[in-house]
Amino acid sequence: MKARYKYRIYPNHVQIKKFNQLFGCCRYVWNQSLAHCNQLYTNGVKRPSYVEETKQFITQAKRELLWLKEVASTPLQQSLKDLDQAYKNFFNSCKGKRKGIKVKPPRFKSRKSKQTARFVGANYKIGQDKIYLPKVGKIKIVGKRKLPSQPTSMTIVKDSANRYYASFVVEINPESLPKTDNSIGIDLGISTFATLSNGEKILAPKPLKKNLKKLAKFQRKFAKSEPGSKRRERRRLKIARLHAKIKDIRTDFLHKLSTNLVKKYDTIVLEDLKVSGMVKNRKLSKAISDLGWRQFRTLTETKCEKYGREFRVINRWEPTSQKCSYCGLRGGKKELNVREWTCLNCGQFHDRDVNAAINIRMGC
Ligand SMILES: [Zn+2]
Repeated sequence: MKARYKYRIYPNHVQIKKFNQLFGCCRYVWNQSLAHCNQLYTNGVKRPSYVEETKQFITQAKRELLWLKEVASTPLQQSLKDLDQAYKNFFNSCKGKRKGIKVKPPRFKSRKSKQTARFVGANYKIGQDKIYLPKVGKIKIVGKRKLPSQPTSMTIVKDSANRYYASFVVEINPESLPKTDNSIGIDLGISTFATLSNGEKILAPKPLKKNLKKLAKFQRKFAKSEPGSKRRERRRLKIARLHAKIKDIRTDFLHKLSTNLVKKYDTIVLEDLKVSGMVKNRKLSKAISDLGWRQFRTLTETKCEKYGREFRVINRWEPTSQKCSYCGLRGGKKELNVREWTCLNCGQFHDRDVNAAINIRMGC
């Protein structure tokens, strides 16, 4: 299976300039090619393959635009490859060949959003505490553990808070953790992040909620500043940094929780939540995106695969909160404010979420 390893890197001023040039060229190639393909589709002509597009586009562009030659050429080719993949994902999603959320058509890239450039093949080198990139040089890398094998690609990322990362894709062999003979059902909720079938309740940090006032203040100030001014860029960066901090707190929590669960249990069962539908409810949406249910599911699933654990999802139409987990009687729908109830059949007293988690564990 594939795994991603991401490290913070610290380019110097000269290297930052070179990176910006590289990102700019990748963006240029992507945007030009996208415009070209869109034009072809409008005219009812099929878009050329990625190989043809590379041949025509980069070779020709390099002849005419000398500045494209000043950066490494692999990331430019990779941009076209990504565009090709983005089109494929979109069309497959339209035809229903691709599962999951509907994929939107590829869009033009902006200087203001996250920037990436991917290197493949043998043109980059990884040292102990440095990476070497063609036409950029040696860059300091921090906190690098040894990669389990030679990476298949390396992507340089600049996020909107102006932080730089090197992200490696590495092929790893799943390793099995020792069996624990324990399984667990998890009920995800808004006030309590996770209720486990053993009765344990886990609260999540709500970093967005905590920083909402600060964020609003930053955004007001940003809106007042003059477009294009240095002050505006400083204020944009302040917002981006706060968003990055919020995201880091959330991700860190979800990583710790999922790792912990995967270590303790052989089988982990979750309820399939239709998060996208719930996020449309505006009242709930902020609270839900602040929690990161979807990210939790992805992290848990990947870690289960990595460590040889079983991961199961039960249908969200199963009556997990209606059924008594003790005797199996279906007591009918319970309003969300009913937090505790007693089964009329067997007399068992239930905490709503714990009962649901037990039912999830049993597959209902
Ligand atoms: Zn009962």
